[in-house]
Amino acid sequence: MTDLKQPAFPPRSASAVGPLEIDTLVVGAGQAGVATSEHLSRHGVPHLVLEKSRIAEAWRSGRWDSLVTNGPVWHDRFPGMEFPDLAPDAFAHKDQVADYFEAYARQIAAPIRTGVEVRRVVRNSGRAGFSVETSEGVILANRVVVATGPFQQPVIPAIAPQDSALYQIHSAAYRNPEQLPEGAVLVVGAGSSGVQIADELQRAGKQVYLSVGPHDRPPRAYRNRDFVWWLGVLGLWDAQAMQPGKEHVTIAVSGAHGGRTIDFRELAGQGITLVGLTQAFSEGVVRFQADLADNIARGDENYLALLDAADAYIARNGLDLPEEPSARRCLPDPDCVTQPLLELDLAAAGISAIIWATGYANDFNWLQVDAFDANGKPRHQRGVASEPGIYFVGLPWLSRRGSTFIWGVWHDAKHIADHIATQRTYTAYRDAQQRQAEAQAGAAPVSLTGVR
Ligand SMILES: Cc1cc2nc3c(=O)[nH]c(=O)nc-3n(C[C@H](O)[C@H](O)[C@H](O)COP(=O)(O)OP(=O)(O)OC[C@H]3O[C@@H](n4cnc5c(N)ncnc54)[C@H](O)[C@@H]3O)c2cc1C
Repeated sequence: MTDLKQPAFPPRSASAVGPLEIDTLVVGAGQAGVATSEHLSRHGVPHLVLEKSRIAEAWRSGRWDSLVTNGPVWHDRFPGMEFPDLAPDAFAHKDQVADYFEAYARQIAAPIRTGVEVRRVVRNSGRAGFSVETSEGVILANRVVVATGPFQQPVIPAIAPQDSALYQIHSAAYRNPEQLPEGAVLVVGAGSSGVQIADELQRAGKQVYLSVGPHDRPPRAYRNRDFVWWLGVLGLWDAQAMQPGKEHVTIAVSGAHGGRTIDFRELAGQGITLVGLTQAFSEGVVRFQADLADNIARGDENYLALLDAADAYIARNGLDLPEEPSARRCLPDPDCVTQPLLELDLAAAGISAIIWATGYANDFNWLQVDAFDANGKPRHQRGVASEPGIYFVGLPWLSRRGSTFIWGVWHDAKHIADHIATQRTYTAYRDAQQRQAEAQAGAAPVSLTGVR
């Protein structure tokens, strides 16, 4: 990417000679698209990255104002560049992450065109490859890499009350406490987003109710090592699939305030009222499941299991890391856990806002190819889709637990680019007869790196 402010794409003159053709088109210039571009360039694959907004737009404008990374910057980065001006154990502000990917794209001269939306991709008939309709015209591509993000459509469950007096937003639309009306707030969902938003709102002086479902909550750090290190050495980032039964288990971690373990008892001590899973709304009353103590106990089990695995790893490898018995000390259960609220009159509790930190769904309507199962889920093996020539990168659990994370997507992108490079060697193969014919015609041998 030599010029972020590029001319309109494709060039206006292209229509006179037909649509632009490119070997590989990458859709999306978040971290997944940038990583894919780096690996394609290393293989000499001609490609173009189209981004409808700006590079790393999700980090720029799709997150709340105070967000910092959940992992320290020695870990949450690409191998080819460190975060400037940050100590290795620091947590980068979201704008620093966006700046980082812009700088990275510049460093690798990624051929990115911003402000161009891909609106439809269809397989060509009678010739290889795909026709790609964009906001700037049609492109023909042999391959399309879908790097449009793991978190595309904010999901608010159908139980949300149809009450126009309530201010309701998804966590994707939350920016800061000032945005909310006066009054108490119910935060539904206690993954990394929900707990951080609830904490911020409570610190800003709001009365906060936090609805806690099943979750994992690793220690922020243990025995002088951050949990990202423990997940790495214990092989847990590489887990290839979610444990059966854990599909709806979210992970509660935070880099806020220098990085601290999420401890629900501590949040309650701070003044947040914990409640169980939000079940239903009816006539101004919200009902919660009686599962709060159980959800917290299972989160504790997950926390302690990691400490046990870490201790065993230290003993097995004879590491000299200081013991940390205090990590196993647990605060007493607060009243809201021992005597949980099972229903709450919203008006009586003064609740004027609900924040739904309830996750995201995909939106692949524009991708009209045979790469989805009956439920509309991408059908692929490590990102190589069932429709030849289509690739996914950046999706949750694409190849393993680390696939959506900054460091993990870089490795998945490498696999995709390797696959594309291999496919190109097949395409470039010519049998003896063809080689002879080409030599007689004086045709230049087909380049493995040139546009077809
Ligand atoms: C609140 C939050 C905090 C997170 N914190 C961390 C963290 O600390 N560390 C970490 O490793 N991960 C974190 N993640 C996970 C992950 O790193 C981010 O979600 C990241 O943005 C994913 O990058 P991506 O490139 O896959 O997708 P995105 O960043 O979503 O990029 C996709 C891009 O595709 C573009 N696009 C979409 N459709 C089209 C189209 N049709 N045509 C053209 N362009 C299109 C979008 O504009 C966008 O720029 C966090 C996620 C969330 C939600």
